[in-house]
Amino acid sequence: MYNPSSMRAEEFINHEEVLATLAYAQENKSNAELIDRILDKARERKGLSHREAAVLLDCDIPEKNEEICALARQIKEDFYGNRIVMFAPLYLSNYCVNGCVYCPYHMKNKHIARKKLTQEEVRAEVIALQDMGHKRLALEAGEDPVNNPIEYILECIDTIYSIHHKNGDIRRVNVNIAATTVENYRKLKDAGIGTYILFQETYHKESYEKLHPTGPKHDYAYHTEAMDRAMEGGIDDVGLGVLFGLELYRYEFAALLMHAEHLEAVHGVGPHTISVPRLKRAEDIDPDTFDNGIDDDTFAKIIACIRISVPYTGMIISTRESQACRERVLSLGISQISGASKTSVGGYANEEPEEENSEQFDVSDKRTLDEVVRWLMEMDYIPSFCTACYREGRTGDRFMELCKSRQIQNCCHPNALMTLQEYLTDYATEDTRRIGEAMIQKELLNIPKENVRETVIEKLERIKDGERDFRF
Ligand code: SAM
Repeated sequence: MYNPSSMRAEEFINHEEVLATLAYAQENKSNAELIDRILDKARERKGLSHREAAVLLDCDIPEKNEEICALARQIKEDFYGNRIVMFAPLYLSNYCVNGCVYCPYHMKNKHIARKKLTQEEVRAEVIALQDMGHKRLALEAGEDPVNNPIEYILECIDTIYSIHHKNGDIRRVNVNIAATTVENYRKLKDAGIGTYILFQETYHKESYEKLHPTGPKHDYAYHTEAMDRAMEGGIDDVGLGVLFGLELYRYEFAALLMHAEHLEAVHGVGPHTISVPRLKRAEDIDPDTFDNGIDDDTFAKIIACIRISVPYTGMIISTRESQACRERVLSLGISQISGASKTSVGGYANEEPEEENSEQFDVSDKRTLDEVVRWLMEMDYIPSFCTACYREGRTGDRFMELCKSRQIQNCCHPNALMTLQEYLTDYATEDTRRIGEAMIQKELLNIPKENVRETVIEKLERIKDGERDFRF
């Protein structure tokens, strides 16, 4: 039986409910009257149910699809302005005991070079990331209780937060590791992590079990219920995602929104972020052997429909996607992007020799962080290195309150400008600095409260004189 408040995976991601949703969406894909009503509801900016969202995703009326995209753009602008938060993944270890058939870390892969960073190597990676200008990381690791136990992850987090190289520091560490126990989530919370991210890969139980034939990740319920355990362990901010390409995208889309509804129903707060990774070529992995790949148009529509359905949830896109694809979806709802990512273990400090490949997948966007920052500004986006919210205790529902009270423009906007100034002063090339300083002058005018604006102007000068880490 479908029950969003249930703690059982098969009840809150109920297969029959997903199928009924898909049938309803198909029946109504040309129903202009219903689509108009759903769009009117979406304009109230309170989100949509998974059934309503599924109808929009299937909608085959071209003018209505244009309205969907226009509304997604408007909601993106209203909630997130023109800020784009920057981050980089940091791969700690690719040892893994699982058998995920789409991932090169799977246990049977004997070609891939297995690596695990020592604390000295973590240090070298973090210094390389700080030297680029990064302030926010997403930690990545395979699942291996012997090689990568929770104590190892905790030790790495401690090391990362302890490194202050020149003017740099890592101020927010998000963590993307395998589903674990409440006790371990509590330890991650105590170590000061930001978001706990876990991709569902696929919500379709039967496919899930086939795609994860061996190892602890085989357990669908344990994986799907992980966010509830994370929240029980005190982590307020959790990040959902599916790996598009494994199963039918329509199924994943409806189930992803059901998962968000479940978190809201049980914990009173939805997901902090949703990621939209697509399956990529990798050592031992040929994406063409999977039947459910989606084209760029479908991908863009999924992003627009997620934006409309969960307006308060940030959306993340990685360097799996090309510059052109990222450019297209930024305006439709993406609020966070990675830059200059390496998916190899130790890849930031040292270029890997070809015969020693430890990469998780090929990245498409290979530009430097400076190039990504400049590109964003040339499109009138503000690259933000802000990490203030969780450091000021604005997590979970308190963050949602900030969005709902529309105070973002007096808070996130100034923080974006001040952290951009830090980047420009410490790391930017001359060209990027020139473009950035002009952008900051222009954007100061968009701070509504005059006293806030004056404070920011004063702080910007102090940043240029060497002070760091101001925040609202
Ligand atoms: N091991 C952790 C787990 O079990 O969830 C997560 C870390 S893994 C490094 C991060 C994510 O990479 C996975 O959740 C998966 O969605 C994604 N991934 C794996 N293989 C991929 C591929 N070939 N192309 C794109 N993404 C992939």
